[in-house]
Amino acid sequence: MKTAEIAQRYLDYFEKKGHTIVPSASLVTDDPALLFTVAGMVPFIPYLSGDVPAPYARAADVQKCIRTNDIEEVGKTPRHGTFFQMLGNWSFGDYFKEGAISFAWELLTSPESEGGLGFDPKDLWVTVYEEDDEARQLWLKHSTLPDERIQRLGKDTNYWSTGLPGPAGPCSEIFFDRGPAYGIDGGPATDDDRYVEIWNLVFMQYEIADVRSKYDFTIVGELPNKNIDTGMGLERVAFIKQGVDNMYETDQVRPVLDKAVELSGKTYGANHEDDVRFRVIADHVRSSLMLLSDGVTPSNDGRGYILRRLMRRAIRSMRLLGVDGPSFAELFAASRDAMKEAYPIVETDYARLSQYALAEEATFLRTLSAGSELLDESVEQAKKAGEGKLSGAQAFLLHDTYGFPIDLTLEIVEEAGLSVDRGAFDSLMQEQRERAKADARSRKGQLADTSVYRDFRAQGETVFTGYTELETGSRVL
Ligand code: ATP
Ligand code: MG
Ligand code: MG
Ligand code: MG
Repeated sequence: MKTAEIAQRYLDYFEKKGHTIVPSASLVTDDPALLFTVAGMVPFIPYLSGDVPAPYARAADVQKCIRTNDIEEVGKTPRHGTFFQMLGNWSFGDYFKEGAISFAWELLTSPESEGGLGFDPKDLWVTVYEEDDEARQLWLKHSTLPDERIQRLGKDTNYWSTGLPGPAGPCSEIFFDRGPAYGIDGGPATDDDRYVEIWNLVFMQYEIADVRSKYDFTIVGELPNKNIDTGMGLERVAFIKQGVDNMYETDQVRPVLDKAVELSGKTYGANHEDDVRFRVIADHVRSSLMLLSDGVTPSNDGRGYILRRLMRRAIRSMRLLGVDGPSFAELFAASRDAMKEAYPIVETDYARLSQYALAEEATFLRTLSAGSELLDESVEQAKKAGEGKLSGAQAFLLHDTYGFPIDLTLEIVEEAGLSVDRGAFDSLMQEQRERAKADARSRKGQLADTSVYRDFRAQGETVFTGYTELETGSRVL
């Protein structure tokens, strides 16, 4: 079952149950406090909080999400993408726990021939908040799950709250058991590699006050309008339904992975570290494409910096796989082709998106080749001296002269089994900032953008006009 078909079945099911189908909001939120849409609920916050009356009592959608806090998990677990799509069904003061539980069970376990997702009930487990006996009883009533496959867990996993006075409530999560080959018995509470969380049902039930921390507060009463917020991971359901091992091998992601394999001349599945890199590349290229398509452009702070980091990590991973030259033209085209059916904009706007991607790649490859030699030498020296640490001065030199970002230096140095004298690096950075400030004060507004010269130096002998044009006059893009 293709990813798009799973999404369609989800929407069709909830439409039949009286839900209004709502298009995905942008990955870029209106809320300045939140960099990206991290969950399906984000665009519905005004309705969930009651600030704005909801224009419908029931809604369902496929929401694009970015979660940068999962970046370290990517490629290592089977289930964490920086970009993913969250299917959601919403009730604004309409149906509550019983509706949410019975809908979820019916959609998951109805046969494929009847529009369902065709899960075998014996592969499913659920968790409920330990004090939410109502949810447990409803699972017993509406599903064929035996009591021992309904695990009762604490607030840290099964409670939703914003950490502020207002709405809060228990959750119930649904898991797929991948079987004994993937881990030990004992249910979701013991093993999250074997038991993959696919769907989270949030019951916004209570009004809380005296909030001491996210999970320490006083319940003042039931909300007059109780809401349902659910989130199902589209890529997670897809990898299970497609019979592959992880979300990076699904139809919307795998073509990028395959392209990286082809460009590297290596084999996927031969070596764990390489496999993680292939998966990171596939994930990060797709996330970058989707961020670009929502108007984010690479820069040195905020959202643009996240995009820059994703692209740079993909490039670094290609290098670690032995590909030193450019590869974005082919990787991004592969991702575009895999995503265009669901998001036509990645094709119609491709000329613009790929220009950003290619410019970023050219810049970063140059930075890498300029700084790598110095970095390798420094690492060798530190190893010989038996110091186990790269000095702050060397890390600073790399940053200052070659534009080597510190997170990159840290990553490379850690791979070599060393660390960086971070304290010394930070104080050199601080000194530099103060010098720059003093300098700016003395020159009052005449400060030239020296980064142009630094980048020019990093270019070495070769003249690459594309870069200077893109950098100095971003109108070109
Ligand atoms: P996990 O515990 O596996 O990290 P979560 O509890 O953080 O998941 P929720 O915040 O409950 O996830 O999000 C709702 C659903 O979205 C999850 O049940 C899962 O199916 C999906 N999901 C969450 N994070 C990711 C991700 N990084 N990549 C792909 N799908 C995700
Ligand atoms: Mg998580
Ligand atoms: Mg979880
Ligand atoms: Mg969850």
